[in-house]
Amino acid sequence: MRTVNLILVTLIVTGPLSLKLPSNPITVKGHVINNYKDSRVYVAGLSMFVKVSGRIVSQSTTDSNGDFSLRFTPTDKSSDFYCAGVGTDTLLLDSIERIEKDNVELTFHIPNAVKKDAFGKVYCPKCKRTNKVYPICYCDPPITVRRISSTGDTTYSRIYKGEYQAGTDVVGAAKYYCDRDKVQF
Ligand SMILES: [Zn+2]
Repeated sequence: MRTVNLILVTLIVTGPLSLKLPSNPITVKGHVINNYKDSRVYVAGLSMFVKVSGRIVSQSTTDSNGDFSLRFTPTDKSSDFYCAGVGTDTLLLDSIERIEKDNVELTFHIPNAVKKDAFGKVYCPKCKRTNKVYPICYCDPPITVRRISSTGDTTYSRIYKGEYQAGTDVVGAAKYYCDRDKVQF
């Protein structure tokens, strides 16, 4: 009898919880437009994708007007919108905490319209912080800095004299790099 009671209680407790979980896919209607500061980039034929917890959950391509749609099921993790095809680099366009409505319309600038703090430091779209953000240098040859830690581990960093060294193989639209998230934007 006790077991039966326990099963009943479990059903009552977990029943409403499982109903609460968002399980329906939503559609995001996106528009890519040029940033007036740099209008070289074509907005047509770009590969757009969204990552949740580092995994691609949906992808599509922009039409001749820079419009696209992505369909995926949001979670409690942020949805990161990326674009590829500008040169061949991959740009993080924005990271959105919660998307609760279906048919949300989002507009992205390429290159990103960056946000700066009062000191002119640029915010990362992902971590929303400034302290690991570096301007990208498309310089030749790119410098890779080798560091040996006190424990003897060797690491390589492309950050040199306050800039992220991207090299000139691909001169992309990205202007900044966040070393915390390893993303360009
Ligand atoms: Zn970041």
